[in-house]
Amino acid sequence: MARFIFITGGVVSSLGKGLASAALGALLQSRGYSVRLRKLDPYLNVDPGTMSPFEHGEVFVTDDGAETDLDLGHYERFTGVAARNTDSISSGRIYSTVLEKERRGDYLGKTIQVIPHVTNEIKDFIRIGEDEVDFMLCEIGGTVGDIEGLPFFEAIRQFSQEKPRGECLFMHLTLLPYLAASGELKTKPTQHSVKELRSIGLAPDILLCRSEHPIPEKERAKLALFCNVRADCVIEARDLKSIYEAPLAYHDVGLDRAVLDAFGISPAPKPQLVKWQDVADKVYHPDGEVHVAIVGKYTQLGDAYKSIAEALTHGGMHNRVKVTAEWIDSEIFEREDPAAYLDQFNAILVPGGFGERGTEGMIKAAEFARTRGIPYFGICLGMQLAVTEAARNLAGLKDAGSEEFDHESGQKRFTHVVYHLKEWVEGNRTIQRDATDDKGGTMRLGAYNATLTEGSQVAGIYGGTAISERHRHRFEVDTKFRELLEDVGLVFSGMSPDGKLPEIIELPGHPWYIGVQFHPELKSKPFDPHPLFADFVRAAMEHSRLV
Ligand code: GLN
Repeated sequence: MARFIFITGGVVSSLGKGLASAALGALLQSRGYSVRLRKLDPYLNVDPGTMSPFEHGEVFVTDDGAETDLDLGHYERFTGVAARNTDSISSGRIYSTVLEKERRGDYLGKTIQVIPHVTNEIKDFIRIGEDEVDFMLCEIGGTVGDIEGLPFFEAIRQFSQEKPRGECLFMHLTLLPYLAASGELKTKPTQHSVKELRSIGLAPDILLCRSEHPIPEKERAKLALFCNVRADCVIEARDLKSIYEAPLAYHDVGLDRAVLDAFGISPAPKPQLVKWQDVADKVYHPDGEVHVAIVGKYTQLGDAYKSIAEALTHGGMHNRVKVTAEWIDSEIFEREDPAAYLDQFNAILVPGGFGERGTEGMIKAAEFARTRGIPYFGICLGMQLAVTEAARNLAGLKDAGSEEFDHESGQKRFTHVVYHLKEWVEGNRTIQRDATDDKGGTMRLGAYNATLTEGSQVAGIYGGTAISERHRHRFEVDTKFRELLEDVGLVFSGMSPDGKLPEIIELPGHPWYIGVQFHPELKSKPFDPHPLFADFVRAAMEHSRLV
């Protein structure tokens, strides 16, 4: 039966609760324990699938096809444990389940209330799979005091009361602001945040304090006294140059030790940190640098492509180089020559995206990479547009385009080399969708197998011909155009096992021109970089030697 660690946040948001949870998970693993991490989000959206990437950052997709919060990406990258559908929940989903049950009559006409109906639903969610791991880490989104968060805080309070003593632990992440004028770290906001927690019946066992400066002994003692935690449970969380140093940094300040002590686990198994030492060494001691342009639409917010940025870093670590990624808004290339912007880069990546805006600029970037011999990596939309570019400029199909954009404009303007997928096979089930299905319900989501052509560039990169990768899209490259495109040199080197859906395209003769219909970035880890990203960065290094 698992022990539970609940991670809450106070003072301000964006303190890195997800990262702290992930790093703690990795540290527990380093001592031989199995872990699972979970995110409970108070917002009312049913899932993050339909939330704007500008507001919410990337949608992280699990193998079993859930569209989840990007923190699940951190969890996977740090622990290597594949996240599941049941590892992420929002108030919206909880309420919609409760209301569905009410409509079905499951509550036998009782008055439906936050306590106990909503809180029970939350507790049921927390318990899923509790006998599978040693530690279950549950992060509550938002900060203490948020109105929407209350049912979650109440649910974890009840939950810890129902468990035997000593099986639940509360960790609270706060900020110690630094006042430059007086040269002091201030503890008052943390005291208030803990007071708020205690007013709803929760007492933190561990205080994790984000701080730009070391916490002096006096402040530490004050925090312990006023927040009612032990002095060795006031843990300093300093800013780090790389997130991949987090497990080592948290270990150095005694986080895993404090957690195991609080559970009364003594003596604790010794940690094996070689893996993380190796990761930190590779991040901090690169032997060179490559520059990659990411040409996309959601470029204002780095978090919109979080996993891509991380996967590029992993690819760099594999090759011992620093990857400097620059985000370029593709719309620029609809007005200006891409050469002025892209000439200085060693590789170009066009990531996933939805909608027509900026796509003509992405097509220009693909053309530039193809004709100049610059490594090109097209992911999802980036593959669809590479195919469109080849259809237009190599095969002479001048009006080639995606049905997605005709749907949007309501006019038929393109020959659909990329068409709306309405039926596909999942395992031995056939799935059918039509354009009127709910938003969020119409995508091919989650892990699907693909078969790679023997002897192709990608089979070499993967070191095999059977792969499984995660998908999140509605549209597919149409195999009707396969022959036309292969005649002009664009090879369909990866297909769904039934041969119906193109999964990978490549361009023999070009140093590195690969498009994939799936999202390889979601499976990359610092200690296990995705082969496509590792090889893309290698190709970028080769390109950097040429220029
Ligand atoms: N908009 C495209 C589709 O739905 C690509 C999606 C993506 O890049 N994730 O097929």
